Amino acid sequence: MKQRSVLHVDLDAFFVSVERVLNPSLCGKPVVVGGSARQRGVVAAASYEARKFGVRSAMSMAQAMRLCPDLTRVAGTHQMYSRASKAVFSLLGNYTPIIEKVSVDEAYLDLSGTHHLFGDALDAADEMRRRVKDELRLDLSVGVSTNRLVSKVASAHAKPFGLCDVAHGDEASFFSPFDIKKLPGIGPVTADKLRSLNIHTLGVLAASEASLLQHTLGRHSASMQRRARGECNVAVCPPWQRQMAKSIGHEQTFATDISDVSLLRGHIQLLLEHACSRMRAKSLAAKTMSLKVRLADFSTKTRDLSLPQHSDNEQQWLKQAEMLMDKMLTPRSAVRLLGVRFTHFAENHYQPGLFDHEDNEQRARTAIADELREKYKGSSFKFGASLWV
Ligand SMILES: [Mg+2]
Repeated sequence: MKQRSVLHVDLDAFFVSVERVLNPSLCGKPVVVGGSARQRGVVAAASYEARKFGVRSAMSMAQAMRLCPDLTRVAGTHQMYSRASKAVFSLLGNYTPIIEKVSVDEAYLDLSGTHHLFGDALDAADEMRRRVKDELRLDLSVGVSTNRLVSKVASAHAKPFGLCDVAHGDEASFFSPFDIKKLPGIGPVTADKLRSLNIHTLGVLAASEASLLQHTLGRHSASMQRRARGECNVAVCPPWQRQMAKSIGHEQTFATDISDVSLLRGHIQLLLEHACSRMRAKSLAAKTMSLKVRLADFSTKTRDLSLPQHSDNEQQWLKQAEMLMDKMLTPRSAVRLLGVRFTHFAENHYQPGLFDHEDNEQRARTAIADELREKYKGSSFKFGASLWV
């Protein structure tokens, strides 16, 4: 399968850098942006010179001043930050429409399939950094890899003003030496648990006995280990793509009307597989499903059902959908058309960083099925009960 090219771009010490564009005398000095110590202010951003003294974001300004007595504090001009941010992202928009901004100074870009326009992703990334520097006088660090997780860690590794690319196949070995804290999603509590098992690096985490981890970390351990190997299949999802999806569905008109209930169930599963696969491709999960049944006499019924929580997993919808269909049909109904349609979406329902999602093994299998479906577009690839449909 053709690998994706995903970039994570992150502006270095963004607020401070904007202040330095406005006031070049701040360059080379330890600078922070934030409220004054007298008013119990907090550090919103620190220059790399200030970080050398141990000054960090979210630290109280009073403590920052104690750590670095020569610190220059700037109150901050937030309008300028959003203006600078817009300028940066409109420049990056020249390279791909698939940009998912995650904060004022950080975004994921999917450059798959743009190489005929901009050369390979690494060249494009390098050009982006140069142009952001030349045209906007800001430092951009970029991580390049086949997925967003590895690119995120790579851009952090590249800072300041760096570029780090990880070739397909090298994800696990790139991650291996890093401290477990570098993996997005591992917070202090999880890190402490891992250290108590004598696990300090991502390589050791990836290679640890699964049963040992599961005992301490519970059901999240499998996905944590996969992520420790640099595996991630969450798509870059720009806002326009999310807004587009008000509903996602599939329907099928049969060549001859069907009365056989088990055959109809097979068709429902197939429709659910297709619709759920499209939901997953958009990083969406639905709360409500409508089932549409048209009978031989063209009378059409639609009924809704909702799950207690959002889901993009056909297995979770199947039982309920079958029960709903049974209610909508009489024993001799001849069905001309079946359709399923999902609505009421949650964005990015799947938050791999939080390690609290549904069964991970199931999700991994589903991801493989989605890839196969994409590869063999159409209906040549089917799962289990729908195979014979
Ligand atoms: Mg940043």
